[in-house]
Amino acid sequence: MKWIGRRSSSNVEDRRGMSGTGLAVGGGIGGLIIYLIFSLLSGNGIDPSQIPDLNPGQSSSAPMSEEQKAEDDQRANFVGVVLADTEDVWSKIFADNGSQYRKPTLVLFRGRVQSGCGNASAASGPFYCPLDEKLYIDLSFYEELQERFKAPGDFAMAYVVAHEVGHHVQKLMGTAEKVTRIRQQSSEAEGNRYSVMLELQADFYAGLWANHAQKMFSSLEEGDIAEALNAANAIGDDRLQKQATGEVVPDAFTHGTSQQRMYWFKKGYETGDIRQGDTFSSER
Ligand SMILES: [Zn+2]
Repeated sequence: MKWIGRRSSSNVEDRRGMSGTGLAVGGGIGGLIIYLIFSLLSGNGIDPSQIPDLNPGQSSSAPMSEEQKAEDDQRANFVGVVLADTEDVWSKIFADNGSQYRKPTLVLFRGRVQSGCGNASAASGPFYCPLDEKLYIDLSFYEELQERFKAPGDFAMAYVVAHEVGHHVQKLMGTAEKVTRIRQQSSEAEGNRYSVMLELQADFYAGLWANHAQKMFSSLEEGDIAEALNAANAIGDDRLQKQATGEVVPDAFTHGTSQQRMYWFKKGYETGDIRQGDTFSSER
């Protein structure tokens, strides 16, 4: 993606220098606790999209070298530009539909962080909290994409940011709330299906964003869409589950299979039409 020298969003809250919440728990246990907190919350009428988007990985809290710091800052600038692009694109789409886009804040953190939805650690992966309308990203996720998920490239990260912004759009449109209400009245398996549809729509919105960003800024480079699709493929629930347990249990899917994620990102990218993003009534 062409991003150097372009506008970076002013809605970035940089908490990388802060020491987090002071919780004295180790990464793995911390991740588990976060997961439990989120599970409890999601059973209590809170949007399922705030469940951390990716499985617990490793969080690195070791001090950084100067070189790593410089790289981290460059990544911070990059996500700032991606966020700015999402602001411009969604402001236009909302305006075209007669409403106004409320911009979310992106919180950069390192290690652990306190969010409006509870404490979280880098191990929870990037997530969106609908209660404070903020996206939370630990930049070490870049490495995780590259090394653990084999999804390198700047546009893989752009896709992740755009997906989280997609959850914000769902909050603004009231979709997230509707789904939460339905989930409260349905079985766990049925609830998971709705959760998947919500996730796939966030993927669709990420693709939609890429389409409009290209139209507005000609910012895409060759290989970008392939990088995003590769990331969508790598972080599908079926893949993650297989890696974690060796078997796939469809009822427990909350994000969609690799194929579904790629399908919806691509549909958003190819059509650029927000009306095509009804993942709820189409069975794929
Ligand atoms: Zn998501």
